[in-house]
Amino acid sequence: MYYFIVAMIFCLLCSCGHEERSSLSLSSSSIPFAFVDPCTSMPGPNCCALAFNGLCEEPSVCSLGTDEDDCRGTFHTELSCVEAYVIEEDGDLTRDLISFTWSDQLNGMSYTSEPIVLKLPSSIQSLSISVMDGEIETGMNWALNDESLKTMSGSNVATGALPHHYESTPEEGCLQIWPLVEGDRLEREARLLITSRHHEVTDPILDVNVIVVGEADVTEDELAEVLVVTANIFESHRGPSINLSGWFKIDGESLIPSEGNEINQLRQQEFSDNARALNVFIIDDFTEGDGTLGIAGGVPGPNGVEATSASGLVVAIEPHLSEEEEGVFELQYSLLASTIAHELGHQLGLEHTTEDDGSTQSSIDDLESCAYAELGSSEAEECPDGRNLMFWTSGDEPQDQLSAEQVFVLNHNPIIY
Ligand SMILES: [Zn+2]
Repeated sequence: MYYFIVAMIFCLLCSCGHEERSSLSLSSSSIPFAFVDPCTSMPGPNCCALAFNGLCEEPSVCSLGTDEDDCRGTFHTELSCVEAYVIEEDGDLTRDLISFTWSDQLNGMSYTSEPIVLKLPSSIQSLSISVMDGEIETGMNWALNDESLKTMSGSNVATGALPHHYESTPEEGCLQIWPLVEGDRLEREARLLITSRHHEVTDPILDVNVIVVGEADVTEDELAEVLVVTANIFESHRGPSINLSGWFKIDGESLIPSEGNEINQLRQQEFSDNARALNVFIIDDFTEGDGTLGIAGGVPGPNGVEATSASGLVVAIEPHLSEEEEGVFELQYSLLASTIAHELGHQLGLEHTTEDDGSTQSSIDDLESCAYAELGSSEAEECPDGRNLMFWTSGDEPQDQLSAEQVFVLNHNPIIY
């Protein structure tokens, strides 16, 4: 979406040397919805879902209601678990795959006329849903019981997860999902992947694979030291411990654009049969050369689903080097550790506490966000959340703070065990 683009503009305008940690995951995510006004011509739940999410200027044209409340009300009276796909606990990390066919098409979008309905058992603790249809903009609207509708979209794969704040813990009931995809996909097959967890976790652990790509200028010892600092950021707030599940060094281009086929193909590679391990790719730099420190595959990513274009985060070494004396560059360990933790945070479902314009997408309540929007940009030093791990850009001070609710979201991603 705009995270990345806005951040880049900020840097270009002021040449201030601020290093971004942007999340590209939702890049172009509004495309399937922005090109059309589904409410003018698409009857049914997708219309209402989009209207409710404020993406239509005139929700009243939605055929299921006369305003947002009607729309939502009508939607909920239709909630039914008849012919639902039943999610049942299946080991530590429960994974379900549903194949479906795009049945309808309108205004350049394909969709299903009927929702895919999941029946969630009382054992459910957390879940993640990913819609995939190859190399194409994909999205979905979804709702559980009385919870309000959500829209998620993404490049190639769209993922949503519960809980994403204190109030959204999944519970027994009916989950309805309306997938959407850009383009003419009529009668073609797509996939819905559900990852769920059915047990409480007391000492949360996050498995990661570290993958060093090509000539990335960093040693195994340096990265091991950095990961200890990354782990400390989470553990000091009772977040997940980091377990290094796999260590890989692969051939490949280490200077790549931050979006497009090359980075998608990198993230699509599979490295181990540990489905819960998050891949952390270490490259030399992004070709844009704008100081971008790292990029997550999603907020959240399709965790538990291997080999998608959003499976993993990519971190650049070059912007983490500082020139101590002429020609001598040193790795800034704590900055790199924070970047890895920040991108892991995105991948596990955390939004920025504040964006550069002072706005926030985060639904987390227990933290202060920055009210300096009128300045046109918010910098870490002038914001109350400037030291939070999920602040939009790096600052002079370490960014290693997390609120209890942020940690709750981290610890509840289905891949945490
Ligand atoms: Zn970020």
